[in-house]
Amino acid sequence: MKTTVNLPDGSSRRYDRPVTALEVARDISPRLAEAAVGAEIDGRPCDLSASLDGGSHQFRVITESDRAGLEILRHSAAHVLAQAVVRLYGPGVQYAIGPALMNDFRYGFYYDFDLPNPIGQEDLERIEAEMKRIVSEDLPVVRREVGQEDLFAAMGAAGQSTYKAEMIRGFIDEHLRRGGEVKDFRASLYQQGEFVDLCRGPHLPSTGRLKAFKLLTAAGAYWRGSEANKMLTRIYGVAFFKPAELAEHLHRIEEARKRDHRVIGKQLGLFLISDRVGPGLPLWMPKGAVIRMQLQSWLQGELLRRGYQIVITPHIGKLDLYRTSGHYPYYKDSQYPPIDMGQEGSYLLKPMNCPHHILVYKAQQHSYRDLPVRLAEFGTVYRLEQSGELSGLHRVRGFTQDDAHIFCSPEQLEVEIASCVDLVKLVLETLALSQYSVRLGLRGPGEDKYVGDAEHWTLAEENIRNVVKKLGMNYTEGVGEAVFYGPKIDFVVKDCLGRDWQLGTIQVDYNLPERFELEYIGADNVPHRPVMIHRAPFGSLERFIGILIEHFGGAFPLWLAPVQVAVLPVSEKSNPYAAEVAGRLARADIRAELDDSSEKIGAKIRSASLQKVPYMAVIGQREVESRTVAVRCRTEGDAGAMKIDDFIAALRREIDAKSTASLVAARAS
Ligand SMILES: [Zn+2]
Ligand SMILES: [Zn+2]
Repeated sequence: MKTTVNLPDGSSRRYDRPVTALEVARDISPRLAEAAVGAEIDGRPCDLSASLDGGSHQFRVITESDRAGLEILRHSAAHVLAQAVVRLYGPGVQYAIGPALMNDFRYGFYYDFDLPNPIGQEDLERIEAEMKRIVSEDLPVVRREVGQEDLFAAMGAAGQSTYKAEMIRGFIDEHLRRGGEVKDFRASLYQQGEFVDLCRGPHLPSTGRLKAFKLLTAAGAYWRGSEANKMLTRIYGVAFFKPAELAEHLHRIEEARKRDHRVIGKQLGLFLISDRVGPGLPLWMPKGAVIRMQLQSWLQGELLRRGYQIVITPHIGKLDLYRTSGHYPYYKDSQYPPIDMGQEGSYLLKPMNCPHHILVYKAQQHSYRDLPVRLAEFGTVYRLEQSGELSGLHRVRGFTQDDAHIFCSPEQLEVEIASCVDLVKLVLETLALSQYSVRLGLRGPGEDKYVGDAEHWTLAEENIRNVVKKLGMNYTEGVGEAVFYGPKIDFVVKDCLGRDWQLGTIQVDYNLPERFELEYIGADNVPHRPVMIHRAPFGSLERFIGILIEHFGGAFPLWLAPVQVAVLPVSEKSNPYAAEVAGRLARADIRAELDDSSEKIGAKIRSASLQKVPYMAVIGQREVESRTVAVRCRTEGDAGAMKIDDFIAALRREIDAKSTASLVAARAS
């Protein structure tokens, strides 16, 4: 039988006999065959041993430099992990599910185990050593397809009569639901040495191909993710083709651990989460409040320049208001329960600021000449996140949005969206978060998840797509990621460690104006319905600052630093002049802290560095006499002596420029 293999470059090869993927790869080039870890036949990833027998097929070799290749490697690492655990902890071990992970910052694969005795972090080294042994044995990985009887028999013989048997039964049910019959049900087994697993594959051709891997964590995980099921032990690891890639990855994880905002937040005294107040309800300490106030007043200035008006509204409102807006019941499950006031009805902690701003708009009659009306508020909202999901500032129950609602005519809409995009870009670029991508959140299936008619939705989706296209931005689309009242543009930002964060959102809404019957009088003297934009460049200030703490590792740019200058007298004799310097700085609106303790100067410098203070003004006898300061910079160290006025001028310049680089050090001699 003739087989035609069509290659990505458009060429094709013909064979008169069945060939394996590996043979085709060798035919193309021996070097390609060496780097091959799998193949894609008609778009489906498969093993190198997969055979092509007759017909015409699209064919591509998956190599080590491929993302699909990495996925194969990691999945194979999970199998080697399971094999090692069974070898070490005996035949009573049941292995459940073990996939590759491709989008996790930390982990590359895991396997869930039901173990006769609990294991912990300390066992990982032993398991890793056993995995290395399995790699050095270079066991061939063999796939076979079998019917249900052989499946149950093979997995049963391996002692896997609970989880794997349940999975097989699930696959068979699925097969029957699709109209198949039990007798033609087939699934694949992968065998390496004594270890066998029910698995779709594909896998590396042999265990020897696994080189750079590391086990990272052992944690509890429920079978199928449900609390009603048994708690299993999940072992996480990561794998790469090159040892250098693994080393770099481990370095990044370590760096992330050091930058954990919960740890830095405590060290620098930025915020506090106290059980006496409640989980997910952060208290801003004085130094953290400085950062927040700086961000807020900067953005507020920017908003006023852009024609926004500031409003202030209460933290709660009547339940009926949120019924009209649809927040109740659409957000019901993520809200604190209503406060029952008897005769007066029920109140809700506000989950969103929109209904309040809508009432501000509605309080006056608007003509087309007033539009757009842009109402902004640093508004605090409350959402009842699951307690297990709460994490420092990243996930909280009470947070402040840099929220605004723009009411405009349909003709003004795209210009307004574009200017929101511009504002988000300004925010991100000012904070050295300039690596971002744009994602459109569109409506998905599920009538009950969205309000409003299809026509408005289509129009709103067209509006946001038009804007990002016109601005020449690269974007991806996510179906089902819209808010209940409209589609949105999200900015996904990469921090300095390469982690993705969703920040900055712009949402288009034809629906709430409809539900609240908003109007403006048009040039034709009759009422028209405005469109709304909801947008928040920071999103939540809590989460945003949590991300900034990690992005900067606590070393904030000068304009945000809680203490900008530490004034450090060398001895008691220089205290009076040091106090004078601190006073001069304070009068120039520079946040200076005088350390006139009896500590040695070395200890004072160390403590200011630990607090990540950008500049130190060291003052000894020489500085007193010459009326100067010896400047030390957080990043560059000793920056030489400066006259106070020059120092202040240089600081002001760096602050006003919101520079993330040290400009003062460059000025000093
Ligand atoms: Zn598998
Ligand atoms: Zn809103």
